[in-house]
Amino acid sequence: MYTIDLPLREPYWLSGGRLKFENLDATFVEIETDAGITGWGEGTPWGHTYLPAHGPGVRAGIETLSNAILGLDPRKIEHIERAMDICLPGHLYAKAPVDLACWDILAQASGLSIADALGGRYEEGTQVASSISTGTPEQMLALVDRYREAGYQVHSTKVGGNIELDIERIRFMENARQPEELMLYDVNRAWTRREAVIVMNSVSDLGVTFEQPCETLDDLAAIRPITGSPISVDESLQTLTEMSRIARENLAEVVNIKLNRVGGLTKARRIRDMALAHGIQMYVMATGGSVLADSEAAQFAQTIPAEFRLGTWACQDMLTVDIAPGQGVRNDHGHLIASDSPGHGIIPDKNMLGDPVAVYE
Ligand code: MG
Repeated sequence: MYTIDLPLREPYWLSGGRLKFENLDATFVEIETDAGITGWGEGTPWGHTYLPAHGPGVRAGIETLSNAILGLDPRKIEHIERAMDICLPGHLYAKAPVDLACWDILAQASGLSIADALGGRYEEGTQVASSISTGTPEQMLALVDRYREAGYQVHSTKVGGNIELDIERIRFMENARQPEELMLYDVNRAWTRREAVIVMNSVSDLGVTFEQPCETLDDLAAIRPITGSPISVDESLQTLTEMSRIARENLAEVVNIKLNRVGGLTKARRIRDMALAHGIQMYVMATGGSVLADSEAAQFAQTIPAEFRLGTWACQDMLTVDIAPGQGVRNDHGHLIASDSPGHGIIPDKNMLGDPVAVYE
């Protein structure tokens, strides 16, 4: 297990201006096998105020569960999953890097990319999505312009906070949106029910989609019958049970599956299948992190038929360090195209990671 700081190019203000951070605390897991195959996984929370997840927690969780999985066959993914769930209920974000490293091993052992090992890789890449820090309308459009120059056509624009300003921001951004662009308005839980209803109904003529407008699924169920805009669920979707509720109670048209938040690929693919079965579109992303986390997300995204796949964030474009130069998915004219080489195809540079912070054997 390794840890490294991943500094952001510039400070980031999440919706409502309530969460500012400048650095990500990343954990990398390297799993060695008797067969000589090595798998890598990454666990990088998006700061420690975004979700109930933090860097030291990833490492403490792995410390606790390491004994339960040592000696198991990493290709038997669901046995590993069950061993982790029995040893340490919850704490999905700590299990994700282990699950991802096991998928890397399973896929390499099969001679398949992770996407093919998951059931089949669709050839066309996933659209790369920006993450636009909240600010004045002009500041936000300037950020979008910078991403446009790099080919981005999908933008997750952070609103939430002062609702008068939010309405102004949304109308301003929609006015500047180009026809081929997809603009998601991500509230990151910042509105109360009343605020969500006022803003969403004020701009319902625009037909825009709001991500996580309120804190909980109960909040979404409350505002749903009295608002007219499509909803995407992000932070409130952690488990298959929650996905089941979203589908059954018609709480959203879109879900955002973040691999670290839901506990890795094994759990993410069940959520994916439930969404597909109910006609719900998906964003697929890492919660944050390096090119390794982005590549894991891109591999998973490319198992989703194109008409259900809306985009994948590339957190790597916001960092000042690159732990695997020349490897993994990179923004290619607005797309992330996952490799079809075995596994996820990334071996981090150990000179950058330094010595392991812990070894379990
Ligand atoms: Mg979001």
